[in-house]
Amino acid sequence: MAQLILLPGKERSAFKQHHPWLFAGSVGRLEGRARPGDTVEVLADNLRPLGRAAYSPQSQIRARFWTFDADESVDDAFFKRRIAAAVERRQALPDLRGQQGLRLIHAESDGLPGVIADQYGDTVVVQLTSAGADKWRKAIVAGLLKATGCARIYERSDSDVRGLEGLEPTTGWLHGAAPATVLAIKENGVKLAVDIVGGHKTGFYLDQRDNRALLGQLAAGKDVLNCFCYTGGFSLQALAGGAASVLSIDSSGPALAQAQANLALNPQLPAQRAEWREADVFQALRDFRKDGRLFDLIVLDPPKFAPSAAHAERAARAYKDINVLGCRLLKPGGLLMTYSCSGGIGLELFQKIVAGAAHDAGREARIVRRLAGAADHPIALNFPEGEYLKGLLVQVD
Ligand code: SAH
Repeated sequence: MAQLILLPGKERSAFKQHHPWLFAGSVGRLEGRARPGDTVEVLADNLRPLGRAAYSPQSQIRARFWTFDADESVDDAFFKRRIAAAVERRQALPDLRGQQGLRLIHAESDGLPGVIADQYGDTVVVQLTSAGADKWRKAIVAGLLKATGCARIYERSDSDVRGLEGLEPTTGWLHGAAPATVLAIKENGVKLAVDIVGGHKTGFYLDQRDNRALLGQLAAGKDVLNCFCYTGGFSLQALAGGAASVLSIDSSGPALAQAQANLALNPQLPAQRAEWREADVFQALRDFRKDGRLFDLIVLDPPKFAPSAAHAERAARAYKDINVLGCRLLKPGGLLMTYSCSGGIGLELFQKIVAGAAHDAGREARIVRRLAGAADHPIALNFPEGEYLKGLLVQVD
């Protein structure tokens, strides 16, 4: 095994905090040969062993720790153990037990950097985003089959971040095959179709499950505006919760078509109260303002405006813009449910942006609840970067 030897003082975050990333700037030298994804032994500059990591020569994140136990082998049995532990962790939480749509592995936060696995019924969709994860594809598949007993596994390794690791996009069945690639799950009592081949991420935004349920609890009798609705997850919960009307906006035609198909899967819901609009949210909100249209409850769940800290400034302006408009379109006492899923925008900054937005809209407002991802998207305490999704429920005077 090759050895990756750190520069003096650069062992601190690994040694003291068990942070799983080693940046290029911390690395002194590589002794021996290692190809992308190979396991290397990581040593402090005084040659004290720190653990074992996946080597990624193309990435700024030069290595990701698999283990901080310098004696633990990284082999098939390692992946079997880590995957079983991730699945058991979810089984131990009553909210997650029996969910048909469930994130089984949340990468670094489950001790498996670069590995994402989402279960939809008896199908698991995996996304491998790092050179190390890519290399251990077979062991990961075997571990998932053993831990879940699922019938089939599909790979959706087509995320942009693979490029940073020098990896090509890869998709296709890794085990078994489904007759159809649009699968059905039930979430919070509502049926939803998930397109594992053409949908975003692995097909669905499982992280918002609890927040969609919360919207349902708030929606009775309300005029709801759901911005960036994707396949209608929030919209359907609002209808189930007794909303007076639900207007949903997305710029993607296929997402809206899927949203309407999802509504049709739920004949118990009052379809006549739902309106769908294909539009740019920024423009649509300005148009509502011009028309004097107001709402009781507005959801803003935009895509990642800032994939990394480098985009934070531009992203902050975009978040501010939609939140100003959102505040202006609320009736007095209305609720704004607003999110950022940008890794580059921290909780504190996001709250400042929303505060600035309320101020610019000329409205007093208060946070009545802080919102986050569901429990199957945990944030390992040694990996604060895992807190990508943050939200605020704001009541606007
Ligand atoms: N709230 C959704 C997930 C939203 S994902 C859920 O719970 O499932 C973000 C969505 O924003 C995507 O569907 C994308 O098509 C849409 N989108 C991106 N930019 C947009 C824009 N400028 N206007 C409208 N929709 C946009």
